[in-house]
Amino acid sequence: MPELPEVEFARQCLSRWLVGRKITGVECSPSRVLRGRSERKLRDLAGRVVRKIDRRGKWLLWHFAGGRGLASHLGMTGKFELVPPGAPPVRWSRARFLRADGAIVHFIDPRRFGELRVGALDDLRAGLSELGPDALGLGRRRLAALLADRTGTIKTVLMDQNVLAGLGNIYSTEALFTAGIHPARRAGTLHPAEIARLGSAIDESLRRMLAMNSGDKIVYVGESKRTNPFLVYGRVGTPCPRCEATLAKITLGGRTCSFCPSCQPRARKER
Ligand SMILES: [Zn+2]
Repeated sequence: MPELPEVEFARQCLSRWLVGRKITGVECSPSRVLRGRSERKLRDLAGRVVRKIDRRGKWLLWHFAGGRGLASHLGMTGKFELVPPGAPPVRWSRARFLRADGAIVHFIDPRRFGELRVGALDDLRAGLSELGPDALGLGRRRLAALLADRTGTIKTVLMDQNVLAGLGNIYSTEALFTAGIHPARRAGTLHPAEIARLGSAIDESLRRMLAMNSGDKIVYVGESKRTNPFLVYGRVGTPCPRCEATLAKITLGGRTCSFCPSCQPRARKER
């Protein structure tokens, strides 16, 4: 499932493929990714030049010439792919952005939890204003301020996009393991040393995956041909990579995650 590193990968690919180029046509069929919005608005992006593509958490904001914009979210299974001219049809393609050279950028989304919103750039930006600060490069002080006085568990708080934008189940699980913090700890009870460790661990988990994704194509965990690249995510019942205790699972905020009961003790541990 795409989280910050996968969305950043999409941003880099789309920037390479489209920025500075004119979209010569847009094709789409009625689909849940439009959330009931008119297909015409998407098609009306044809003829416009893509100026730049920004990322905020798991959202991308495409800037078009003339103040128009497109906000895109990959949902659970969305991805963008560049397909050369004359290639056969692409399965699960929900929208297509055509380039002058005949290449097509497909928005592919088998499960259709992704989203495409077209509008004035300023309106789209305002629509994303509820999001918390981006999780990448956040820094310890800002993280401490975000967590202070929060009574929710640290796992659910980290996944709350309005607190911190970009982390989902995977990278919150990985970061808590790396920082040695139990997922069910109350966010507001972390002491400064733990927050410092967590801040570094979030950055480390995100940057590790950013460095692993390269080229023009991405394969998500759970899709065929990809082995699990994570330390503990998706590894319940296997030995902890640090201490070899058996990794346990816990469900918080409706999401199940893995953790090491020995490296991530429930009681506060000073170091
Ligand atoms: Zn362990």
